[in-house]
Amino acid sequence: MVELNGKELRDKLILKLKEDVEKLSTQLGLVVIQVGEDEASKVYVRQKERLALELGYKFIHKVYPESVDNVEIIEYIESLNNDDSIDGIIVQMPLPKHLNTSVIQNTISPNKDVDGLTFSNSGKLLHGVPSLVPCTPKGIVDLLDEHQIEISGKNIVIIGRSILVGKPIANLLTNRNATVTICHSKTENIQLYTQNADIVIVAVGSPAFLKADMVKPGSVIIDVGINRINGKLYGDVDYENVAPTSSYITPVPGGVGPMTVYELMHNVYLAHQLLEEERKLEKANNNEKVKKLELTHN
Ligand code: NAP
Repeated sequence: MVELNGKELRDKLILKLKEDVEKLSTQLGLVVIQVGEDEASKVYVRQKERLALELGYKFIHKVYPESVDNVEIIEYIESLNNDDSIDGIIVQMPLPKHLNTSVIQNTISPNKDVDGLTFSNSGKLLHGVPSLVPCTPKGIVDLLDEHQIEISGKNIVIIGRSILVGKPIANLLTNRNATVTICHSKTENIQLYTQNADIVIVAVGSPAFLKADMVKPGSVIIDVGINRINGKLYGDVDYENVAPTSSYITPVPGGVGPMTVYELMHNVYLAHQLLEEERKLEKANNNEKVKKLELTHN
């Protein structure tokens, strides 16, 4: 059994990203919007802030009280969409029930949507068009690729169908020619699917959900779950018993989690490239318009 070490790969990829970022003439900017004082959210934001600052990004953590309304957040996002010093915007989930998550999420300009959750970027992923892709799914694919684990033609079972993890990873892997099955809370006899899978990805949010008798010997196990019990982190896989029968497995902590934070920083870099392309195109179009006007006036 080989452990898929997300910390090691993250550190390796950060070195390369640092080199790329240093070559840019402008500082990259990331804004994280949080509503309320959720403790887990604060921990995630701190991890993002630490890495953003290490990479020399401008980092803004905007915290609203629980009582904030949709309009105030939407107006702030619109101002960020028009701010050239900001390349990436994310809204920390979950939002309180009185807020309209979908409208808020989709106010983010698709080119600054570094979580890849807008309808525009989800649609591009569905169509296999290059786009800003959700961070956790991207991190999982990078981990598999780093270890040359074949995706094409493999039977992959994903447990969990969230818009953040399950559905986008299913699209990414389908685009890479895997045969993908998605299971969820209404799936009967999940083990019928997992026992035949070459790769099992678990994103449920339930400690030790995946047991040894549910998997095929020699399969690859990706544990996305983060469950906090008495201050300690546990994944969704019964690691002690599943690890010995698997060929590769991600630990928790230290597997998918570190990759997710790296991928966010990488998406900010990609978003900057997209914005630069857009600005160049706009400039070229304006020059073209001026030329046409000059022709008609001369
Ligand atoms: P989520 O939105 O709560 O989705 C959980 C999914 O699990 C749902 O699709 C749900 O099915 C399914 N599920 C729940 N109970 C089940 C059961 N008994 N049998 C089968 N399926 C069941 O969660 P999420 O945002 O995808 O996150 C999942 C886990 O990953 C959480 O522990 C979260 O903290 C962690 N996470 C980790 C990272 C990372 O970087 N490592 C990133 C994101 C999330 P239904 O759709 O039918 O309700």
